Amino acid sequence: MRIVLLGPPGSGKGTQAALLKDRLGVPHISTGDLLRAAVRDGTPLGIKAKAAMDAGELVSDALMLDLIEERMGAPDIQAGYILDGYPRNLAQAHALDEVLGRLDLPVQKALALNVDEDQIVGRLAKRAEQEGRSDDTEEVVRNRLAVYREQTAPVTGHYAERGLLAEVDGIGSIDEINQRLTAALH
Ligand code: AMP
Repeated sequence: MRIVLLGPPGSGKGTQAALLKDRLGVPHISTGDLLRAAVRDGTPLGIKAKAAMDAGELVSDALMLDLIEERMGAPDIQAGYILDGYPRNLAQAHALDEVLGRLDLPVQKALALNVDEDQIVGRLAKRAEQEGRSDDTEEVVRNRLAVYREQTAPVTGHYAERGLLAEVDGIGSIDEINQRLTAALH
């Protein structure tokens, strides 16, 4: 199964992707995780991406396309994928269609988790305490939400136009949301 998971920061995408990955036996590709690893390892990509990440802005489309082309070209993707954190704007959505078209591995379903902003600010404050992510401070969280609203939210329309979008209520227990997502895949 080839899935794109959409939803604002703090909507539980990462948690749900990890559960779906185990159920479906496909790799979970989180561009946020890949970037954080690159920053930690001090790779050229990490060095270039760090300032944008710390400010809650998007890393450039060109850097992201290199990263995604490399990852999606790996052999494990033949089994399918759950993409989490990409595409983040319409240009990335078009670029992804092109890359996946070339690989003959197009997206089959876009699952969007709906959670409103008030809930998210609280969730991210909790995550900041637990994980100490440097981009979970209140100011940066607000910026990430603004970036989501302006640039990422329109991506759901891209998949809706192609008949691939399923929207799922992202409020509830991890189990409940997981069941909704699984139902939306069938
Ligand atoms: P995430 O863990 O998905 O919230 O990503 C953390 C940060 O990594 C984001 O706030 C962006 O700075 C950067 N990032 C992750 N994915 C992308 C993407 N597809 N395009 C641009 N920047 C990204």
